[in-house]
Amino acid sequence: MNLTRRRWASGIAVAALGCSKSEAPEPGRAGEPGPPHVIDLHCDTPMLFRDGSFDLGVRNDRGEVDIPRMRAGSVTAVFFSVYTSATRNTELEAVQEALEIIDSIRRTVELHPDDLVFAVSAEEIRAARDSGRIAILLGIEGGHMINSSLAVLRSLYALGGRYLTLTHSKETPWAGSSGSDSDTGLTDFGREVVAEMNRLGMMVDISHVSDRTFWDVVESSQAPIIASHSSARALASHRRNMTDEMIRATADTGGVVHINYYNTFLDDNYVQRSRQWEAENPDTGKSGGRDARTKAKLAAIGRTSLETLLDHFEHAVRIGGIEAVGMGSDFDGVDGELPEGVEDIAMIPNIAAGLVRRGFSSGDVERILGTNSLRVLQDVETAAASRAQG
Ligand SMILES: [Zn+2]
Repeated sequence: MNLTRRRWASGIAVAALGCSKSEAPEPGRAGEPGPPHVIDLHCDTPMLFRDGSFDLGVRNDRGEVDIPRMRAGSVTAVFFSVYTSATRNTELEAVQEALEIIDSIRRTVELHPDDLVFAVSAEEIRAARDSGRIAILLGIEGGHMINSSLAVLRSLYALGGRYLTLTHSKETPWAGSSGSDSDTGLTDFGREVVAEMNRLGMMVDISHVSDRTFWDVVESSQAPIIASHSSARALASHRRNMTDEMIRATADTGGVVHINYYNTFLDDNYVQRSRQWEAENPDTGKSGGRDARTKAKLAAIGRTSLETLLDHFEHAVRIGGIEAVGMGSDFDGVDGELPEGVEDIAMIPNIAAGLVRRGFSSGDVERILGTNSLRVLQDVETAAASRAQG
């Protein structure tokens, strides 16, 4: 516990508050006893370590998340994304791939017992933090992975899945996606999926869904909902982002909007610069692979600023309230197109510092960095338990 406390004090608090250790935020200011929770709802790192070529235990010069950098960022819990393509595979193939990714995450956690522990509940996140380890949870990114089967949904929950993103970039037979032109909503079966998730205590994630699906979810969910990695559409027009009405409605369910750091979701001007560069440089860096090409692009057009990212946090708080905002970085899922100063998970202190500079209290920063995420998971569990008793 002291170790974690010290990490917070030397990491985030000092960076954030520019103060001495004795002035570091005290436990419990955000209503949670013990050291602060720092929770990221969405990291795509399994795409790197799944084939065994990426060692999570050492500091890498590629990727955005590994144990040393999670420690440097004072991270206490991460949801690793179970992601399979919704377009390349059949849904049945996606089920198998999901099982393989879950296996790779569990095996990776087992390789690092001193640093990581697999967790499936708010209580286990607290216990992990108190033991000085980072809790690893599973988020299933795309309803195609249940192959329209409540039995598969329940099985993914049994394996540790604690949220299901209802769609990825393509609609499922039962829910519409923001990546598709037809603005379809939830079918009757889609509502059954939401009801079953409510019953299980699995968070319903509306990132990636169509606007119509979003409103159908708000209407049908009996528990708080989340956006695991979405930003504010009032500031950047991408359809993956949430309108103010959506942010407010999510907050009204008791839910949390976890802000995404992808440059394209933060800044329309970046999107324009990016498009122009792509058009003018069809071959630049291509021989060096994806990383080299992105590097060349970022060197030419620049990243979005930390301040732009902070604008999204601040806007979401203004619209939804301080209890309704958290972090959903999308690290390792956006080809490195991340803001200046938030290039990897070690740099979370820069976000904390920026929020403090903007006048957020240390208690409010703690809410945004983790307490809100912990609370919404807890509330979804509680809602399921009370329904089971009722
Ligand atoms: Zn995503």
